[in-house]
Amino acid sequence: MIPVENIAALYEIYRQHPSVQTDTRKLKQGDIFFALKGPNFNGNAYAEQALAAGAACAVVDEAAYYTQPDKMVLVPDVLQALQQLANTHRRTLQIPFLAITGTNGKTTTKELVNAVLSSHFKTVATAGNLNNHIGVPLTLLSIPPDTQLAVIEMGANHQREIAGYCEVAMPTHGLITNIGKAHLEGFGGPEGVKIAKGELYDYLRTHNGTAFVCTDYDYLLPMAKGIATVITYGSRHADHQGHAVTGPALLSVALDGDASPVQTNLVGAYNTPNVLAAVTIGRYFGVPEASIRAALEAYMPSNNRSQVMQQGTNTIIMDAYNANPSSMRAAIENFAGIDAPKKVLLLGGMMELGEDSIREHQALVDLLQQTHWHAVVLVGGDFSKVKHPYLFLPDAAAAHNWLAQQQYQHAYLLIKGSRSVGMEKVL
Ligand code: ATP
Ligand code: MG
Repeated sequence: MIPVENIAALYEIYRQHPSVQTDTRKLKQGDIFFALKGPNFNGNAYAEQALAAGAACAVVDEAAYYTQPDKMVLVPDVLQALQQLANTHRRTLQIPFLAITGTNGKTTTKELVNAVLSSHFKTVATAGNLNNHIGVPLTLLSIPPDTQLAVIEMGANHQREIAGYCEVAMPTHGLITNIGKAHLEGFGGPEGVKIAKGELYDYLRTHNGTAFVCTDYDYLLPMAKGIATVITYGSRHADHQGHAVTGPALLSVALDGDASPVQTNLVGAYNTPNVLAAVTIGRYFGVPEASIRAALEAYMPSNNRSQVMQQGTNTIIMDAYNANPSSMRAAIENFAGIDAPKKVLLLGGMMELGEDSIREHQALVDLLQQTHWHAVVLVGGDFSKVKHPYLFLPDAAAAHNWLAQQQYQHAYLLIKGSRSVGMEKVL
């Protein structure tokens, strides 16, 4: 732990210069530069450059780089200093902090929730996908004092990670989107994922918190036992109920008691809980029903997440941002339910599955074979190691060339795969 005096001194500087940067290329005049280390770089080596570029202060953790004592703060560990500073700032803010974690749909839920809340409150939410040990403190340090509500996405690929983020962010409210199969390697199997995500509930339980719990996943409500306030949402047995209205690619959600469904710009019935979460949280904080609906209907997905696009006569479901066994299954099942004559799937491999990898790829191939498709192309990863009747291509570039030759008309295409496969390049 860094001595409290050092953090207090750093906090004084932060109050004068409430803008933090870890990358000299993005540095602005007056930023505080944190010299983080990575596997391939040592931020300390950039500290002088940061000051020359106008940084108000540089935080370093190697004495050799502590060259300008009047403009540098030397700490034992820069990352720890960043987290402690973030927590110091957090403690000054007496507002609701909503933490969102889970296997799938964190960013989508965060964006939807923030769309709803920001229609009525001054909010700060995690930018993009900044949900890790650096992103969480940076998000906290981006919250101005007049903020009314904060929404923090927390990602994890190993045990005790969410617990650590909760210590820093001190959430008053929390939501686990769902618990599925991802990062099985780091978590030590599916049970490990459950324990790790449950760390958010554990924090809420011991800190008189409030949890928003989806009843459509049987495992969540039992896990939330003992939390002071539990508010449920889902298609059944929930405080806030609604269900997907089946139809064309774009999802609409009928809310119990409402005459007309909420028409979203998201694809996939699997986004229904994400939409219901935003409705529930909006109502909980007193956002008027009409504003909730307007915010959800205006929200446009980006970054290749659950996006629908039109290319000539073809409809593309672009979901290439990420994939794991549970989100792949959800996407394939949803695609199977879309009523279109010519459906084509281009699916990239799934990473970080450790010893379960081949089995999980095989399970997806088995699922695919339950439906008749116009064409299926499997791209990269462990799809090369399982038995299937489909075309296998080594990478997204090869899939791109293949697709260019097909000259499809009036087709529906589903494009999905792990981030590193880069399936968006197929188009
Ligand atoms: P990351 O771990 O990369 O931060 P995330 O949890 O933030 O991911 P999103 O980026 O919101 O998740 O969505 C990624 C993909 O997960 C979506 O494109 C979609 O395919 C899938 N997905 C979203 N919500 C659900 C859900 N409720 N159930 C299953 N899959 C989902
Ligand atoms: Mg995310």
